[in-house]
Amino acid sequence: MSPVRQWRILFAFLCLGPGALLRPGGVTAKEARYCGAGATLRLSSPVSSQGSLLLVELKSARPLTEVKGDWGGRSVPFWQEEGHEAVHAGLLGVDLEKAPGRYELKVTAQKAAGEKIVCSANITVRAGKFATERLRVGKEFVEPNPEQVKRANEERDRLREIFDRVTPERLWNGKFRVPLDGVAAGSNFGKRRILNGNPGSPHGGADLPGTTGTPVHAAQRGRVVLADELFFAGNTLVLDHGLGIYTFYGHLSEISARVGDTLEAGDVLGKVGATGRVTGPHLHWGLTVERARVNPLQIVKLLGP
Ligand SMILES: [Zn+2]
Repeated sequence: MSPVRQWRILFAFLCLGPGALLRPGGVTAKEARYCGAGATLRLSSPVSSQGSLLLVELKSARPLTEVKGDWGGRSVPFWQEEGHEAVHAGLLGVDLEKAPGRYELKVTAQKAAGEKIVCSANITVRAGKFATERLRVGKEFVEPNPEQVKRANEERDRLREIFDRVTPERLWNGKFRVPLDGVAAGSNFGKRRILNGNPGSPHGGADLPGTTGTPVHAAQRGRVVLADELFFAGNTLVLDHGLGIYTFYGHLSEISARVGDTLEAGDVLGKVGATGRVTGPHLHWGLTVERARVNPLQIVKLLGP
């Protein structure tokens, strides 16, 4: 039984049969609702918060095709569960800075006979509970010189272009793992630093503890789309797992794969280091799902052991 099937649905939920009208507000349901035409839609959690990840499952009595999800203009990548052509799963990423509120998830699919299924659910996004750190430091630490600013901006745009690309096929199968052996938790996700009164961008990944030289493993199978030295993240590797899902590994002392390489889950991609703007060695691990920056440890929880 997949984990999503074990969870109960407690959020305001609204399912529509073909041609039905969308009712505002939704219906509160304690179980997943019948969507019409023998299909049900379930979510791993009734509510979400900034930086979190939800697992969505559409299950039908008959095989479905053209399963698509839309969440506030962003697509939700779906895949067919191995050996179950009537079960489709998808990941919904809630960006770290998505405004709290209520958003409609709409899932559409096609039955073999051509009949269309439309399911919708209202998902509440709550503010994330992130730490804030206020620091007073010398000017030289706060303001990079114009050349460094230019470089950092170019690298930000380059990463944005990578995360905007959605490889249509799923390149992995199975569970995601934490990239460091023996590490189960990370810190600093979403933390915001206020330097001399100026708020900076929130910290978009989880920092995993490790000493320089510790092997870093691929969280899952994927293709290397970036292996380079960046201003902030130092030696960095980005893996494309398909369906708009990317993992990011920063501050490496060594990178041991090249752009274009396909790595299997658990393959060593480099070593922990302290390159880039850091105070000590650790692994900065990031996860992007359809451009949403989410806590990477959540994918291990949802699709992990
Ligand atoms: Zn970090």
